[in-house]
Amino acid sequence: MSRSAHPAGPRHADVFPEAHYSAPAADLNVLDEKVWARTVTRDADGALTVGGITVARLAEEFGTPAYFLDESDFRARCRAWADAFGPDADVFYAGKAFLSRAVVRWLKEEGLNLDVCSGGELTTALDAGMPAERIAFHGNNKTVAEIERAVETGVGRIVLDSFQEIVRVAHIAQRHGVRQRVQIRVTVGVEAHTHEFIATAHEDQKFGIALADGQAAEAVRRALALDGLELIGVHSHIGSQIFDMAGFEVSARRVVQLLAEIRDEHGIELPEIDLGGGLGIAYTSEDDPREPHEIAKALSDIVTRECESANLRTPRISVEPGRAIVGPTAFTLYEVGTIKPLEGLRTYVSVDGGMSDNIRTALYDAEYSVALVSRTSDAEPMLVRVVGKHCESGDIVVKDAFLPADLAPGDLIAVPATGAYCRSMASNYNHALRPPVVAVRDGEARVIVRRETEEDLLRLDVG
Ligand SMILES: *Cc1c(COP(=O)(O)O)cnc(C)c1O
Repeated sequence: MSRSAHPAGPRHADVFPEAHYSAPAADLNVLDEKVWARTVTRDADGALTVGGITVARLAEEFGTPAYFLDESDFRARCRAWADAFGPDADVFYAGKAFLSRAVVRWLKEEGLNLDVCSGGELTTALDAGMPAERIAFHGNNKTVAEIERAVETGVGRIVLDSFQEIVRVAHIAQRHGVRQRVQIRVTVGVEAHTHEFIATAHEDQKFGIALADGQAAEAVRRALALDGLELIGVHSHIGSQIFDMAGFEVSARRVVQLLAEIRDEHGIELPEIDLGGGLGIAYTSEDDPREPHEIAKALSDIVTRECESANLRTPRISVEPGRAIVGPTAFTLYEVGTIKPLEGLRTYVSVDGGMSDNIRTALYDAEYSVALVSRTSDAEPMLVRVVGKHCESGDIVVKDAFLPADLAPGDLIAVPATGAYCRSMASNYNHALRPPVVAVRDGEARVIVRRETEEDLLRLDVG
């Protein structure tokens, strides 16, 4: 748009009719502890520190962009979930949120189980020593090779996602002379209050077998008839970034209803139900996530109540938080590059990463916060959009936020709550080198996933 044609610039509201960003909610120097990992704080000079190490030192040693993960926070969250659910329930960490061998060892030490959904995740889990019986294998289109490996290595459960898979897994298990423990994933017709692309329990989508029309009951019939399968329960996962427990209530009620129907038809009470993951975290100060103990109590109350009214023994509950464990424990550190003030609109702040290290903003319209972390500032707040360095105008990291007006190239800024679905969804777009993940704990920092190099890129490109 030509500036001279609009000397005053377009009015903000014309261009961003949704904008209500007249002023930041709080002092930009104050870190909202809700969105930052637990050991994050500012030191006497105003620089952000995590695990006792300043971002300046981290940037110098590990470069930017990079993800810094607060290991003690990660472990504390694992323990909080395990303690909240207690010995009569199982917590499976959803590995797709972020998985590395170090993470697998932490999970193992903290007593959690692990969900995987690909051969690659299974390899990582087994290589780092997770006992196979503590692993659950998910996916709507597991390959025969993946099923073979899951059965051979003795994973604790395979979550069956289609009629074809019921037969496929049964045959493979029989060929190996085992009875594979399985659950059937059902879609309960609940749409979680979240972005359309990440809602998974309404019926018009690829996951699971619908409760509606008796599909799930038919799947149970077939699974029970096959010698290669030991049906241990029913699984339901209703979406992502959910704050309202109402969706889980409906889901639990419908799953228990199915257990009652199974009891009536087959004379057996399945011992387990899995209510999936999807619990929300705070990406911005507006978000108010629940604590694991509140979630555990809500879920166990509803399952107990529904089972009592259906005259069923209460099954063992499992849950699968991914984001709620790893999401808040990490932030992405970027160096500020070019700064482009667009008069009457906002200021575009470019960083040295972008959609290759955080695709969620472009993919889901996700919201993030951002802070100047190499120093504090008393300058006025300015409305910014933090963008990456990729050749794509949708390459946005933080859509709307405030940073101090004296922001300058070379400043370090950080985006909190990037532990989940950022490194695990990272790409090499524009031949970007995927950033490292650095675990920080008690004054020590160590790389757990190293930065990609140009040699890595060339190694795959075989000419
Ligand atoms: C993605 C997924 C999870 C984890 O979701 P979060 O939002 O990270 O908690 C759990 N279970 C299943 C089956 C999933 O597909």
